[in-house]
Amino acid sequence: MEILLSEDQIQRRVEELGRQIEADYQEKHLTIVAVLTGSLILLADLIRQIHLPLRVALLQASSYKGATTTGGALILNEAFAPDVAGRDVLLLDDILDTGHTLGTLVRRMGERGALSVKTAVLLRKIGRQQVHLEPDYCGFTIPDRFVVGYGLDYDDDFRHLPHVAVLDETNLPK
Ligand code: 5GP
Ligand code: MG
Repeated sequence: MEILLSEDQIQRRVEELGRQIEADYQEKHLTIVAVLTGSLILLADLIRQIHLPLRVALLQASSYKGATTTGGALILNEAFAPDVAGRDVLLLDDILDTGHTLGTLVRRMGERGALSVKTAVLLRKIGRQQVHLEPDYCGFTIPDRFVVGYGLDYDDDFRHLPHVAVLDETNLPK
């Protein structure tokens, strides 16, 4: 597999993002709402770079694999994100692709009474976005390839790689 982002590169960038977030959330009521499962590793690394009082909440979002892929219908499990009312929410996801996931979640956090809602992603894919949304914090912009590692999976494998790699799907038995 071709390594796109090394462990070192990612760690350095996550540190920078942590410092930025730390500066921006002084005196705020920060709740980081991480989108499972892809943002798990980023969450663990990032929160250890933010030296502020903060809460962590989790939710799971899976896109509905129906006849249409453009509707952005999401199945949400919010059981572990009970407490966002009055909080400054920072939504955290692994990758911004079409934008449907984060677009929907930003709206949802507003409906649930968040004081403010911002977004942070490790990766943003070029040329794929359908929903207008500028992530407030973005680790890296990457070409339109399918990537795995550092939380991102293929068929529930590869999440544990410390780097981000391009998956050559033609080489995989399926
Ligand atoms: P969006 O709603 O922005 O289209 O999709 C975001 C979700 O699609 C991500 O949270 C991630 O689960 C998945 N995704 C998009 N591109 C990739 C990719 O290159 N690799 C992996 N593993 N997942 C991806
Ligand atoms: Mg995801």
